[in-house]
Amino acid sequence: MADVYNWHLGRTMSYPYPAGPGGGRQFAAVFNINRCISCQTCSMACKSTWTFSPGQELMWWNNVESKPFGGYPLNWDVNLLEMQADRDPDGQVWNPEARREVEAPYGQFEGKTIFETANGKDQVVTGYIPSNDDWKAPNIYEDAATKWAKEGVELPAHSGWFFYLQRICNHCTYPACLAACPRKAIYKREQDGVVLIDQERCRGYRKCVEACPYKKAMYRPTTRTSEKCIACYPRLEGQDPLSDGLPMETRCMVACVGKIRLQGLVQVGSDGLWVDDPRNPMYYLVHVAKVALPLYPQFGTQPNVYYIPPRWVPREYLHQMFGPGTDAAIDAYTNPSRELLAVLQLFRVTQKIIFAFDIIPGPKVADLNIGGQKQEIYDDTVVGLDSQGREIVRVPVMEPTFQRPGKLNSI
Ligand code: SF4
Ligand code: SF4
Ligand code: SF4
Repeated sequence: MADVYNWHLGRTMSYPYPAGPGGGRQFAAVFNINRCISCQTCSMACKSTWTFSPGQELMWWNNVESKPFGGYPLNWDVNLLEMQADRDPDGQVWNPEARREVEAPYGQFEGKTIFETANGKDQVVTGYIPSNDDWKAPNIYEDAATKWAKEGVELPAHSGWFFYLQRICNHCTYPACLAACPRKAIYKREQDGVVLIDQERCRGYRKCVEACPYKKAMYRPTTRTSEKCIACYPRLEGQDPLSDGLPMETRCMVACVGKIRLQGLVQVGSDGLWVDDPRNPMYYLVHVAKVALPLYPQFGTQPNVYYIPPRWVPREYLHQMFGPGTDAAIDAYTNPSRELLAVLQLFRVTQKIIFAFDIIPGPKVADLNIGGQKQEIYDDTVVGLDSQGREIVRVPVMEPTFQRPGKLNSI
């Protein structure tokens, strides 16, 4: 085991391999849970591109599940949380006092990760293989709320609640799938941090299926190999003819009807931290606005998909799912700064990856009172730039509207 630094946990942790040299880019994405309508367009975009062949019938590299009861595979997170609680009964706690900018934005995790609770004999990672039945019903418990809200609902937390959780492979910085593979068939690319399974080397032992805490490595019986999300890497490489050779967002991102997804590439330094780049939308949302958080950071894989948590869900549930940054993230989203409001307009306005943004100040257009806090709204314009620093998109904060005349036609 090597010691590696995990900034989600704010500490070093044990991992079977040393950290990479850094200097490359890392695939990252932000999903705004508050806006998802569970239309499953993202799921179908992925399936119709990558998993439509025999043996892949039950394979959804992208899925959207209703929480708290839904899950694909069934109960994937509850099962692992229970295993972790059994193996580390007092340890699943955070010390928010140890918070430091960039190195430890959520404080320090004082419990054990899934690498640290493993028995070290037949497991290098705590995990389990779901049963065949667990994979069969990706939408079970869809739209099932915790209880009926007979007296209506009230913010900040509804008495009856559910929300949609959008899930793809996290292209983790410390992938559990890679750590567990006895064939060394799984690798993480230097240039973009994408985690891939070499289909020539894989022998279908399913150690990755067992180890991935998010259950995003899946077994295909027709080829007797495991497969997973490939981050649509030809698009990231700029091979899609539509993008003129520029890096392009993945299929599930660009298809998103609810405009909840934004994907990017961030620069990683030799210390394993994201290189200071506040004009990169990913860096801004995660490190500056702190509005987007990793999913179950306590598992220890340092996942690279970040979520803006849902405002209406009881905080205790969200703290377990997104860690101690939850309250600040919801505050930031509920009363967005002038800059954050502008950056939020960049979600789903172009297929090309936005590497930097500029904000052009505009006039004040409204004074609002949101939850007792005064808010000034400005009609700023946000400009998105490509990897070469050229403008690819320009969006105003205020959506242009057209008022129809009272009398439309002769009817
Ligand atoms: S396409 Fe977007 S809005 Fe629709 S389910 Fe997927 S993430 Fe949600
Ligand atoms: S989410 Fe799972 S499959 Fe994807 S890189 Fe992380 S451990 Fe591997
Ligand atoms: S990134 Fe590409 S391969 Fe991965 S889930 Fe999305 S569409 Fe599928």
